[in-house]
Amino acid sequence: MDKDLELSLKPLINGEIFKKGSEEYNLFLTKRFDLDTPNQPWFVVQPTNEHDIAETVKWCNLNKITFTAVCGGHDPKSAIENGIVFDFSLMKKVVVDEVNKTAIIEPGCLAGDVENETSKYGLVFPLGHISCVGATGLILGGGLGHLSRSLGLSCDRVIEYRVIASDGSIIVVNSKENTDLLWGLRGAGFYFGIVSSFKVELQPLKNIVVATYAYPIDKIAEPLLELGRLHNVYSDLQSYSINLSMTGLTVFAIYHSETITEEAKQHCEHLLSIGSPIPFQPMALVPYATFQKTFDSFITNGKYYEVGPFLKSTINQELVDVLVSAIKTHPTQSPVIILTEMGGQVQNDSYRTSSCFPARDSPYHLFFSSKILDDSKRDEIIKWTDKYLNSLKHQALCEYANTSYETHIHKIFNEKQSSDKLKQLKNKYDPNHLFNPSIKF
Ligand SMILES: Cc1cc2nc3c(=O)[nH]c(=O)nc-3n(C[C@H](O)[C@H](O)[C@H](O)COP(=O)(O)OP(=O)(O)OC[C@H]3O[C@@H](n4cnc5c(N)ncnc54)[C@H](O)[C@@H]3O)c2cc1C
Repeated sequence: MDKDLELSLKPLINGEIFKKGSEEYNLFLTKRFDLDTPNQPWFVVQPTNEHDIAETVKWCNLNKITFTAVCGGHDPKSAIENGIVFDFSLMKKVVVDEVNKTAIIEPGCLAGDVENETSKYGLVFPLGHISCVGATGLILGGGLGHLSRSLGLSCDRVIEYRVIASDGSIIVVNSKENTDLLWGLRGAGFYFGIVSSFKVELQPLKNIVVATYAYPIDKIAEPLLELGRLHNVYSDLQSYSINLSMTGLTVFAIYHSETITEEAKQHCEHLLSIGSPIPFQPMALVPYATFQKTFDSFITNGKYYEVGPFLKSTINQELVDVLVSAIKTHPTQSPVIILTEMGGQVQNDSYRTSSCFPARDSPYHLFFSSKILDDSKRDEIIKWTDKYLNSLKHQALCEYANTSYETHIHKIFNEKQSSDKLKQLKNKYDPNHLFNPSIKF
């Protein structure tokens, strides 16, 4: 790029521009979860409003410059070389309409920004399992979290997106206007253009019921199989969050309720009857926004290898055997394996038809995460991950756009009809494929 080309952008916007090599630019590069991703944009733009985004996108189109966008920086797709990046640190407002139970979310918000604001009104929007991940990236790829079974995916509750297409035009997307794009944004939202805001519906919920149990590593088969069996029988209000590490299995029993009802009690206490769990945290009513911060202190940036598919069926003996063997043979003994429960409202038919999210019928998302503390172990860690995931290939439905390293869209949205439709949308809204160029159609 011409060394001074960004000078022609500066007068068009109110926001900031950080040139390569500047202090702000260097600081920006450190604010990524996975520092292993090549990431040397030509410069960083911090828009202050939708007008800034539209003008910058128009400018990129005019100069045929590729661009990406970053919110929480948890996904390698928001890294770019030879292009520019939008950083939404100056657009982090959440505006709640208490009467209509909706909120407008700006694209720089982390999940915690949304949870903190909506909780002031006793309202909730379902996001993920932690509060320090970007709300934008999470919503755009679907969004699985502690409330997925009771409220559906995050994208299911977005009622309007405002999107800047690659020619700089501002497109309103809802159930009446641009419905083709609404379908694509719900599950494949980071492919077509920059989202400048989300309008979401909120539900009343201040607290949830939670209990935490831990099982030592040599006693995890029985509880895992029981959790798999329960998945097929219980209500949408019930779910378990399942985390495996070298020390063993930690299970969070979660019940969607403002009070400790009899069913909530049974749900939490059921685990006490399986094996000999250590009740880590007794059952309690916890403010939802507080619970979402429980895991944040464990999330530190660094170098990672993280991947995993949606499963076709519930937890079974073969899966348990593979997970136990995997956890015991990790090259650096630092893996985390997470089973995120789906089902319930994720399978709601109205959500199914209004989104491209490809794994509605999966009972669990399986996720292998390894922190690479020693570069010399990287290859071994990748081999370890691939070996165990390959051995489960026949149990895998497809990958999750939010956690996949896959750059070919037809491999994530592997139904031909869906990937063809997404390609058409890409050609309609970003015909020169300037936005998020790492993704192949
Ligand atoms: C520690 C950790 C925990 C996670 N927990 C969960 C979880 O509980 N549930 C879950 O579903 N997923 C989870 N994920 C996956 C996570 O949802 C994805 O990595 C998601 O992309 C993160 O969003 P982000 O804003 O932080 O990422 P970014 O890297 O900032 O963005 C992700 C993608 O969105 C695009 N993007 C960003 N802003 C915009 C915009 N305004 N318009 C259009 N595109 C944009 C980027 O270009 C990129 O392609 C987790 C990931 C990590 C690393």
